Amino acid sequence: MQVYYEDDIDRQWIADKKVAVIGYGSQGFAHANNLRDSGVEVAVGLRPDSASAAKVKETGIPVLDTAAAAAWADAIMMLVPDHLQSEIYARDIKPGLAAGNNLMFAHGFNIHFGMIEPEADVDVTMVAPKGPGHTVRRQYELGYGVPCLVAVANDASGSGKNLALAYAAAIGGARAGVIETNFREETETDLFGEQSVLCGGLTHLMQAGYETLIEAGYAPEMAYFETIHEVKLIVDLIYEGGMSLMRYSVSDTAEYGDYVSGARLIDDRIKGEMKKILAEIQDGSFARRWMDENRSGRQGFLNMRSDHAGHQLEEVGAKLRSMMPWIAKERLVDKSKN
Ligand code: NAD
Ligand code: MG
Repeated sequence: MQVYYEDDIDRQWIADKKVAVIGYGSQGFAHANNLRDSGVEVAVGLRPDSASAAKVKETGIPVLDTAAAAAWADAIMMLVPDHLQSEIYARDIKPGLAAGNNLMFAHGFNIHFGMIEPEADVDVTMVAPKGPGHTVRRQYELGYGVPCLVAVANDASGSGKNLALAYAAAIGGARAGVIETNFREETETDLFGEQSVLCGGLTHLMQAGYETLIEAGYAPEMAYFETIHEVKLIVDLIYEGGMSLMRYSVSDTAEYGDYVSGARLIDDRIKGEMKKILAEIQDGSFARRWMDENRSGRQGFLNMRSDHAGHQLEEVGAKLRSMMPWIAKERLVDKSKN
């Protein structure tokens, strides 16, 4: 596996390029600000009526309409939501693409599943930070970086990959490592990771643990601390030194319980289900289901969002956090800025 660091990357490939970041959400905010702070000429492309325009203007980065940004730029990074990218591409991006332009993505979804099919004379690349946008910005400001994946679907100009690597370095990725992959591998592993472990697996594991304690009559505050809040403290140890460092730090009692009870929970049935989830990602049926959900008005999605936001555990968590003001002081997300 090829991993690139600062010394392996020539930033000259982006030095004379105009870069448009399309969208100013989680990733758009981080990319635009990191690129600007790295000395890259960057503009943000948004809908004319976008609520984000005021937030971008505060930073001094120019804002253009999406179509104008695409026409102006040499490199166009698509950071609008995945389910909207194909229509935004067809309407606003495609008309502005010239031969040799670099059409960039932070996730391979639309290219891999064939929802966007760029012309053959356009470079198509990916720079995908392996972390949330707010973390990409925070780590950059601290002088660190979030590892990035880089991939090339089409290198018509012959320098598409060099530009993608320079872009990854400019957003801070090369401080941590830029790993070369392809669109298929990034798309499938990314969807699998977020569904099975990072988002889906973790939240549902925590919720089931929380509910088990509540149903057994324990206090909500106790349940929240034990099954949700402390997850970060454990993950911090794993992040720092792997599972063995975490197991070194917890008591022998906790470590013994980890081995004997963990294996009972995450058993062959769970792994069998993970394999089915992966198969549905690989054969495109997850992508179809998600696009159908969007086309039919997202009611199911919005219902699940409000059900989860309304769970008692969210209220308990908010109350407990209010007693720990340092959490807000160190916050990653400031909704007034992005
Ligand atoms: P987001 O939902 O946070 O932000 C999308 C932004 O797009 C909005 O803030 C808005 O500025 C803009 N937008 C929405 N509708 C638009 C329209 N019709 N026209 C123009 N602009 C519009 O998105 P995100 O989570 O940053 O995801 C962007 C891309 O980055 C996706 O491909 C995603 O898979 C990828 N990605 C995201 C993360 C993450 O941390 N969220 C991590 C890695 C990769
Ligand atoms: Mg992702």
